[in-house]
Amino acid sequence: MTGSYVETWYRERLADPGPRPPLAAEVEADVCVIGGGLAGLTTALELARAGRGVCLVEGRRIGWGASGRNGGFVSPGFSAGHAALVRAVGEDHARALHRLSIEGMRAVADAIDGLAIAGADPVFGYLSASRHEAGDALKTWRDQMARDFDYPIEFWPREQVQAALLSPRYFQGLYQPQAFHIDPLAYSRSLAGEIERLGGRVFEESPVTSLGSRSAAHRVTAGEGAVIAKDVVIATGGYSGRLCRRLHAAYLPIATYVMLTKAEPELIATAIRTPAAIGDRRRAGDYYRLVDGGRRILWGGKITTRTDEPRRLADLLRASMTSTYPQLRDLEVDIAWSGLMAYARHLMPQIGSLGPGLWSCTAFGGHGLNTTAIGGRLVAEAITGQSDRYRLFAPFGLAWNGGPAGRMAAQATYWALQTQDWLNELRR
Ligand SMILES: Cc1cc2nc3c(=O)[nH]c(=O)nc-3n(C[C@H](O)[C@H](O)[C@H](O)COP(=O)(O)OP(=O)(O)OC[C@H]3O[C@@H](n4cnc5c(N)ncnc54)[C@H](O)[C@@H]3O)c2cc1C
Repeated sequence: MTGSYVETWYRERLADPGPRPPLAAEVEADVCVIGGGLAGLTTALELARAGRGVCLVEGRRIGWGASGRNGGFVSPGFSAGHAALVRAVGEDHARALHRLSIEGMRAVADAIDGLAIAGADPVFGYLSASRHEAGDALKTWRDQMARDFDYPIEFWPREQVQAALLSPRYFQGLYQPQAFHIDPLAYSRSLAGEIERLGGRVFEESPVTSLGSRSAAHRVTAGEGAVIAKDVVIATGGYSGRLCRRLHAAYLPIATYVMLTKAEPELIATAIRTPAAIGDRRRAGDYYRLVDGGRRILWGGKITTRTDEPRRLADLLRASMTSTYPQLRDLEVDIAWSGLMAYARHLMPQIGSLGPGLWSCTAFGGHGLNTTAIGGRLVAEAITGQSDRYRLFAPFGLAWNGGPAGRMAAQATYWALQTQDWLNELRR
C-alpha cells in the first residue's frame, strides 16, 4: 500500500490527516523534485523561497523513507569521516565541506525555530562517548574544531561521562552543545506544509515511473499525471529504483534499525541521566536518546546490506542495549523498525548535475539530517544561478557501486569495523 507510513514511534505521535491527492493531470512547473524525503523537501523549500514554481512528487507519503524513521540526531559531518575527506581532497577542500555540514545543521535549527515546528521537539546536546581510553585524541579533535570552525565542543573526563551514562563501558566523551535531536517525521511534514504555503505543489502516492526529455523541458510521469519542468531534481535516497540508471548503478541501499522501549522512567534513570543525544564513537556503534520526557529510550544501531527486516529485530537491538546497560535487562521493547539509507562507494552525497536541467541530491548515508539540508540548498542555489557551491561535491561522482560484489564488500567492511571496535575495547 502506498498510503501508509510504516509503524514507528514517530508515526504513532502524528496526527495524520491522510495523504494529499496524487498527481492526476499534466501540470507545468519551473522545477519538479522527485522524492519527499528531507533531500527533496529541502530542495523544494529553498526553491519556493527563491520564488520558483515547484512541484514535489512523492511515491508514498512525505517523510515515508529514511527521513521519517531515523534516529533524529542532527550534528555536523558526513558519513565519510573528516580524515577520509582530507585524504581524498586535501585540507582546504575538506574544511570547506565540513563548514557546509555545519551550515546544514544550523539550517535545520533555523527552520524549526523560524517555522515554530512544535512537534519536532528539538533537544540540544550531543555526547559522543568512547568505549576505550581516548582522552588525547578527543582533546585534539576538540581543539581542531574550535580552531578551524569556531565550533564549540566540551571534553568530558571519564567521571563526568559516567555520571551521565551509568555504564562501565564508557571512558571519555565529547559534548557538542550546538548539536541536537528531533522528531524527524514531524519536521519533514512541516517542511511540506511550508512549501505549499509558499505556492509549491506537493503530491503524495505518486510513484514516478518515467523521466523523459521534451525540447527544453523534462517530462516526469507518475500514474495518470505528469509534470513538465525545465529542471528536475532526483532525491529518491535509499528507495531509488531504476528511474535513473546512472544513479541506480552508483549507490547501495543499506538497512539500519531503531527501537523504542516501553515507558519505565525510574528504571531508565538508573542508566541514562542526560537529555542529550548519545553516540558511542565506535565506527559501527550504537546511538540513543531519551524521548517522551525521559520515559523511554529510542535506540539505534547495526547496519546490513540485507534490505529485508531481520527476524527478532527488537531482540537484536535490545541485546545491544543490555550489553551496555545490564541494569536495563527487564526493560521491554515497545516497537522496532528499519529504514534504508543510500550509500555511494565514497560515502559522500551525490549532489550535482546529471545533464542539462537534471540534478541529483541523494546518497546521504547515515548522516542525512544536516547534509540533506545543505544538499537541497546547494542544488536550489545552482538552479537559481545564485551559486555554484555544489561543485565542492564534484570529486564525489557517480562511482559504480560494484553490483552484488559491492554489497558483499560493504557488509564485509562493516564486520571488519565491528571487529576493530571490539579489539579497541579489549585493548583498553
Ligand atoms: C533507521 C535510520 C536511522 C538514521 N538515523 C540518522 C540520524 O540520527 N541522523 C542523521 O543525520 N541521519 C540518520 N539517518 C540517515 C538519514 O535518515 C538519511 O540520510 C536521510 O533521511 C535521507 O534523506 P533522503 O531524502 O535522501 O531519502 P528518504 O528520506 O529515504 O526519501 C526518499 C523518498 O523518495 C521517494 N521515492 C523513491 N523513489 C520514488 C519515485 N520513483 N517516485 C516518487 N518518489 C520516490 C521515497 O518514497 C522516499 O520518501 C538514519 C537513517 C535510517 C534509515
